[in-house]
Amino acid sequence: MEIISCPTCGRCEIDLLPLVRKIEQRVKGIATPLTVAIMGCVVNGPGEAREADVGIAGGRSKGALFRKGQVVRKIREKDFAVALFEEIERTLGEISR
Ligand code: SF4
Repeated sequence: MEIISCPTCGRCEIDLLPLVRKIEQRVKGIATPLTVAIMGCVVNGPGEAREADVGIAGGRSKGALFRKGQVVRKIREKDFAVALFEEIERTLGEISR
């Protein structure tokens, strides 16, 4: 699994690094080739999030969850990690079918 995270900049609107670490921990050991993008803003984040299998583009206190190029739904910042991981699991489940 490949996790792409933005390098963060002045536009970053979420607490990105703890989220990246949390997801890295949870997907450790999963060998399925899946790309997960974790991006910090709604300016440049959606482009990269759309390219990934699962992605998130953070915004002020909420963000957009992407899957295979489509917005799945909007999520609150406190739910980012859970929603992202659920979407990763869902995608993994479909791949292994
Ligand atoms: S995605 Fe947004 S926050 Fe992240 S580096 Fe790019 S412009 Fe900055």
